[in-house]
Amino acid sequence: METKKKRIGIYPGSFDPLTNGHLDIIIRASRLFDSLIVGVLRNDAKKTLFSMEERVALIRKCTEDIPNVSVEMFEGLLVDFVHEKKADAIVRGLRAVSDYEYELQMAMLNKHMSPDVETIFLMTDINNSYLSSSVVKDVAMHGGNIRGLVPETVIDDIYRKVKAK
Ligand code: ADP
Repeated sequence: METKKKRIGIYPGSFDPLTNGHLDIIIRASRLFDSLIVGVLRNDAKKTLFSMEERVALIRKCTEDIPNVSVEMFEGLLVDFVHEKKADAIVRGLRAVSDYEYELQMAMLNKHMSPDVETIFLMTDINNSYLSSSVVKDVAMHGGNIRGLVPETVIDDIYRKVKAK
């Protein structure tokens, strides 16, 4: 009897840091795939507040209860990572219309480089539509309250990091 191939999704991003918007996409995507890999991009050209290890650790802390979610770092081309992991699709989140142009460009480019790789988009939850890592960093750096913007378990980690800067 033929065994069905397990469906693998990859949710790539910078996650600098993880927000409730990201976590919502992770939870919803984890229900669509047998396994979901959160791919944390190492991009030395893009300056991040949190190191690669810190970004990975924060996501792991928030997803440890979801058995089919794993967190891995990657560098280079996303399509290469997708092939390496034998994944079936890339997952991205869409907030406002402003996300659309960039996401369309990336999806087209990836399709051009690798026609077998699909990108699927999940619409943001209405409550998270204004949320981004930049917003979280801005609020935290100015001493504002980030409760409700990021998972409870990482609030202190984020304040600690911002204070140390
Ligand atoms: P990038 O990958 O462009 O560096 P991020 O790491 O912030 O950006 O985001 C990774 C993915 O998550 C992107 O597809 C982005 O559109 C999506 N995303 C970010 N914030 C939210 C949110 N609040 N709701 C839904 N999707 C989001």
